Formats: sequence, C-alpha cells, structure tokens
Amino acid sequence: MEFRAETQKLLHIVTHSLYTDKEVFIRELISNASDALEKLRFLQVSGQAPSVPEEEGALRIVISADPAAKTFTIEDSGVGMTREDCIDNLGTIAKSGSRKFIEEANKAASGGESERAQALIGQFGVGFYSSFIVSDKVEVFTRHFDADKGASAWHWTSDGLGSFNIRECPLDEAPARGSRIVCHLKPDCLEFANPQNCKTKAEHFSSFISFPLYLKEGTD
Ligand code: ADP
Ligand code: MG
Repeated sequence: MEFRAETQKLLHIVTHSLYTDKEVFIRELISNASDALEKLRFLQVSGQAPSVPEEEGALRIVISADPAAKTFTIEDSGVGMTREDCIDNLGTIAKSGSRKFIEEANKAASGGESERAQALIGQFGVGFYSSFIVSDKVEVFTRHFDADKGASAWHWTSDGLGSFNIRECPLDEAPARGSRIVCHLKPDCLEFANPQNCKTKAEHFSSFISFPLYLKEGTD
C-alpha cells in the first residue's frame, strides 16, 4: 500500500525543523527566481520561447523590503506560472517543477543546451515552503511568459497551515511576465522588512546567481 501523509504536519516539519536559520528563506526564494529566469533563457536559446526586446525583456530579480507594510517581496521576470503550475508546483509538497524541467530538457535538447538547464538549482521541491518560516501569509502573483498561457494572471495565497487559495487576478496586479512572492512577516521576523538588513542577506545569498539583483525600499 502507499504511504499517506498528514499535510499539515508535514508543512510544520518543513517550516519548523528542516532549516536551522530562518534567513535561508531568502536563499530559497532567490534560487527559485534564478531558476525561473534560467528556464526562460533556456527556452529562448532553444527556440521554444520568443526573444523579447531588451527593455521589456530584461532578465532580473528585484527584492523589496517594506517596513511599513511588514513585507519582504521578491519579483522575477522569468517563466511565470499558469494556474496548473501553481497547483502542481506550489500546492504539492516535495514536487519540484525544476527537476521535471531538467528531465524534459535533457530528453529534448542536446549538447550545450541541456548543460544550460543543469544550471537550475531546485530539485527537492520544498524550498518554497521555507517562506513560511518567517511569514504568516505568503502571496504569489504570477503570469506565464507564453502569450496564450499568460492571457490570465494568477494570485496564490496561503497561511502555510494546510490549504491554499488561487484566483485569477487583474493583469496589472501581477508582473508583466514572471512571479512576485510577497511574504507577510511574522511579528518576530520584522528584521526582514528592513532594507539594509535584506541588502546584506541578499548579497550573501546571491553570489551564485548569474542575473542582476536589485534592491528596492518600499513597494512603489
Ligand atoms: P525546487 O526549487 O527544489 O524545485 P521549491 O519548493 O523551491 O522546489 O519550488 C517548487 C516549484 O515551484 C519549483 O520547482 C517551480 O516549478 C515552482 N516555482 C517556485 N518559485 C517559482 C518562481 N519564482 N517562478 C516560477 N516557478 C516557481
Ligand atoms: Mg527551490
């Protein structure tokens, strides 16, 4: 027979016992943003995604800390997600969309192209949930890069206790392409709403990524 899991308890283990330092959520969210950009670059190089003009197309990560709103936000201009992607990848614990992407890329591509996909960091499918170490609510606003799939934008929310919500959101609430993750910080984690502190941490965790990372104060 197959093992079953108590989702709520599993989430508790991931967010309370898997990591020793709470600041690792920054590393995990930067890794996911970098993976999303790496995937887009891979699809562009292999002709599966249209190249976009530099102004609209810049591959970048923006982190913003807002002490007034008590939020830590990270936005990427990567592949973005469809409704199904959100359900499959953010709604299934230990499901790694990145691992699947590498497997498919290895089947489809040859030579240097598949090496590019190897640059993806994710594989265990739990990193995203580390955001709940510091947040009592996480919101994801996302829009897929593909013109058809990206005709709608999606807003995913969860308190990390066992369920999530997903709704279609107005296009102007989501990035034009890619994903924005908003962490609503717990009262004892407000240090991550401090821009100077986030700058230090982001510098520490971003040395391994090959995309520009910008830091912004506030959310405007
Ligand atoms: P991993 O990175 O090990 O695959 P995570 O728990 O960190 O696992 O993320 C789960 C999956 O959610 C990723 O594999 C990816 O498919 C999707 N995902 C997470 N963050 C993003 C993002 N910023 N953009 C696009 N997809 C994302
Ligand atoms: Mg990850």
